[in-house]
This record gives sequence, C-alpha cells and structure tokens, in this order.
Amino acid sequence: MIEFRNEPLSNFHDPAVRDRIKEALAQVEGMLGQYYPLVLDGRRVDTASRITSVNPAQIDQVIGEVAAGDASHVDKAVEAGWKAFPEWARLPAEARAGYLFQAAAALRRRKFEFAAWMVYEVGKNWAEADADVAEAIDFLEYYGREAIRLGKGASLVPYPGEDNRMTYIPLGVGAIIAPWNFPVAILVGMSSAALVTGNPVIIKPSSQAPVVAAKWVELLEEIGVPAGVVQYLPGPGGAVGDALVDHPGVRFVNFTGSKEVGLRIVQRAATPAPGCRWIKRVVAEMGGKDGIIVDETADLAAAVQGILTSAFGFQGQKCSAGSRAIVVRSVYDEVVERLREGVKQWTVGKPADNAPMGPVIDESAYRKILHYMEIGREEGRLVAGGGPAEGPGFYLQPTIFAEVHPKARIAQEEIFGPVLAVIPAENFEEAVEIFNDTEYGLTGSLYTRRRDRVEYVREHMFCGNLYINRKCTGALVGVHPFGGFNMSGTDSKAGGPDYLLLFTQAKAVSEVL
Ligand code: NAP
Repeated sequence: MIEFRNEPLSNFHDPAVRDRIKEALAQVEGMLGQYYPLVLDGRRVDTASRITSVNPAQIDQVIGEVAAGDASHVDKAVEAGWKAFPEWARLPAEARAGYLFQAAAALRRRKFEFAAWMVYEVGKNWAEADADVAEAIDFLEYYGREAIRLGKGASLVPYPGEDNRMTYIPLGVGAIIAPWNFPVAILVGMSSAALVTGNPVIIKPSSQAPVVAAKWVELLEEIGVPAGVVQYLPGPGGAVGDALVDHPGVRFVNFTGSKEVGLRIVQRAATPAPGCRWIKRVVAEMGGKDGIIVDETADLAAAVQGILTSAFGFQGQKCSAGSRAIVVRSVYDEVVERLREGVKQWTVGKPADNAPMGPVIDESAYRKILHYMEIGREEGRLVAGGGPAEGPGFYLQPTIFAEVHPKARIAQEEIFGPVLAVIPAENFEEAVEIFNDTEYGLTGSLYTRRRDRVEYVREHMFCGNLYINRKCTGALVGVHPFGGFNMSGTDSKAGGPDYLLLFTQAKAVSEVL
C-alpha cells in the first residue's frame, strides 16, 4: 500500500485553481435550499419539525432544510445500528478500510464542491474550506491504514505450551456528536474512526452545519456503505443529544464541542439507564484558551504573523485559536505596535469572495462575542477593532486588547471569536506560568531563538499540542496528533496512532496446546 501522505492544499494563486473553486461555488449555489430527511436504516424519514440552515455571511440565504429528529428517532437509529452491527463487525479490517479509501477518493474528486458547501454554510474562506476537506481526506487515508495495522492484533510475549492472542474488537453502536467549526474534517474523522473499527454510527451533526453533514452521509451511501451502518440524525442538541447520550443501547459517544456540553455528556453517560449493560465510553474534545508566548529573542515579524493567523483565521472560531499572546515586557510595546499594523491585512468580507475574515457563525455567537468586546474595554486597552463590521451577516472586526491581566475574563474564558488578549509578562518564566494558568490545555506556541527555552517548554508548557516558532493552529493528521489536557478534553489525539483504540475493546484468548 502507498505510504500515507498529507493531502496537498490547493494553490489559489493559480488562476486555474481559482476557476475551479468559483465553478464549485456557482454549482453549489444552484443546489441551495433543498431538503434533507433523516437517514435511518438506509431509509429516508421525514419529521414534523425541521432545522433551517442559513448562510452566516448573508442571512437571507437558506443553505438547506433538514429534518429534526426526536427521542423516538433515536430509538430507531439505535435499533438499526445494532441490526447492522454483526455483519459490519465481522468484515475484515481491510474491507472496512477499503470503504474509507473509496470515500477519500470520492472526496478528493469533489474537493471543491465540499469546500463550497462550507463557504456557504459556515462562512469559511477558500483556503480554510480547502484545508478542512484536505484534513478529512487525511483522516480517511490515515485511519484506513491504522485499522489494517490494528487488525493484525497485538504482539504478546510467547509462553510455553500456550497459544495467546489479543485482538481489537468493536464496541457497538456509537453516537457521533459533531461541532460546526470543522463540519467536514471533524465529522469525517470522528465517524470514520468508529466505522473502520467495526462500529455502526449515529451521526448527530451540529444544528449550524447539518447540510454539509448530509452530503457526507450521501457520499457514504454512494460508495456502498451498507444500510444501517450510518444513520443521519440531526436535531436539537438538548433533545436528540441528551436522548442519544442517555440511551441504554448507545455503547459510546464520540463528541467534539464546547466544555459545557462535553461535561454534561460525561456526567450523563456515567449514569446507566435501566437495561444499560456497559460503562459508556466517552471521547470528549472540548474548548481552549490557547496562547502564544513571545520572548525577547524571538523573530518578531514571524511571531506577529503567527499570532494574527492563529487569532483571526476563520474568525477565531477554532478550538486551537490563539486567543492569548503572552509577550515578554522588553519587546511588548514593539509587538503590540506590529500587531496593530499587521491586523490591517485582516479585512472582513464575504467568504465566497475569499475575504481574509468572514462572519461568525450565528446571532448568538455574534452577541456573545460583542459582549466580550465590551468586557475587554474594561479589562484592557483597545488596540484594534472592538465592534461589528459592515455586511449582510454576522460580521465582526478583528479585535485586539493590550495590557490584559492574566486573570481577566478575556484572558481566561473561551470567546470563540476574533478577539485577541495581549498579556505582558515580566520575563520568560512568568510567561510560561501565565500560559499554564487557565482551566484549558489544548494548543500553545513559543517564539524564541534560545535552545534552552525550547527544551524548557517541552516540559513546562502544559498543553496537548505545543508548537515552537510557528502558529498554534493547523495540526496535520498523522504529523501532529491532536487533543488537549484539562478542560480541553480527553486528549484522544485525533489523527494519531492511539486514536482507533478508543473505539475498540481488546480481547485476549489463551489456548493450552
Ligand atoms: P457545542 O455547542 O458544544 O455543540 C457541539 C455538538 O453538541 C452539536 O452537535 C450540538 O448540537 C451538540 N449538543 C448540544 N447540546 C447537547 C446535549 N445536551 N447533549 C448532546 N449533544 C449536545 O459546540 P459548537 O459550538 O458546535 O463547537 C464549538 C466548540 O467546540 C468550541 O468550544 C470549540 O473549542 C470546540 N471544539 C473543540 C475541538 C477539539 O478538538 N478540542 C475541535 C473543534 C471544536 P446542536 O448544534 O443541535 O446544539
């Protein structure tokens, strides 16, 4: 088999590539407004209530309508999954991996189309949307290969007179509860890892991005994944989400989203409903208050570029977004000045026109972020932005506050929008202490030219993904396995060699010869 390689990103400087994304945008625009029913046991199911997905960049544009399920559909989805389980679980790992490789090939062929759906549904610009699809392809290619490796079982210590083997068997039917911010990559990664290890899944997409999720489920059907192996069950998180998590027939929950919802899931899953025969396994990847440290030896131009990209890429709506810059005092003023200058490049406009920054996801996020901008005015000195931006959607200015205290709310709470807190530190050691002093622990970066400091932070910066002299976003599958500490989640390390184990249980069989 060909060795795993990350999917290359599209070069939008090439006019031919620009034409392809423009064609895809036009094609997808012609498909907006359609209706997507639930998919349970391979059948289309209509519901009384529906979710309308709108373009956050142009709020009078409907992306599509999807059926909204309820607890009764959860029962049907669980039943369908268990019906499909024996056959799906019995397939050799190579056969299930084959589906992932086919899905990767299909996604590669339809790369620009899937990117275009995200441009419209969640407000990603071309490069962000393209990277999202590339990551999804990577997950499929990587987990396919990993499943084949795991399918060979573990190597055990030989013992005289015995044949001992340990194999990794599937868990059963699982719920995949996905966020909207990487509506293809994360959904594809979470669902394909569970599928390739032999588990039927119930996909509960985010109510903010249910249409592109329907496209993923359609793609799986098109490549021949058997009925019942994948159910598509959108619906309000509070109703469908709780019902899935509580259901005695759900064996595991693979969740990515906010801390609040993640903790609720962990708590509810730990209380078995009558008839539940297992301890539900929960994988929960949650929020962050990620930061970038800049010391007095750093390449300041590179650091400032890394800070701005980490803070404002996709409007700061990444779990890995660098929402704190922690800068050593002796270079602090210079860094703030460079940030003030550099942020001018981060103009706000339509994602379909490939503006550097687009809208935030919905009205509730818009209001919440504006509220944090108000808090920021009290907690720091406004350097840039600080309010709404022009446009027919949820547009906000990239916003920078300086002289922010490490304990300030904007330095501690996940805002999930384009708001950067620049925190001064007296020296490098204090900067590391400030970095570690939040309840999260997802990503972090250090910009320095000192070797001893690189070695120091390997041990002392407490986060799941640490980067040196680069931005803190943009983890690559297989290269930077991804997951955070503390309230950032269960550190499952998506896109890493341990991830698939989370959807299996190991069975050891010992035969006396
Ligand atoms: P969210 O509000 O927590 O929603 C995530 C998913 O959970 C959605 O499908 C949501 O459904 C569902 N949900 C809501 N209430 C539920 C309940 N009671 N039970 C079960 N499921 C429920 O998060 P989001 O706004 O989509 O995503 C942003 C958050 O995700 C940020 O905090 C970000 O840091 C985090 N994130 C983390 C990672 C990581 O790898 N660590 C990656 C990406 C994002 P509805 O949409 O229907 O409410």
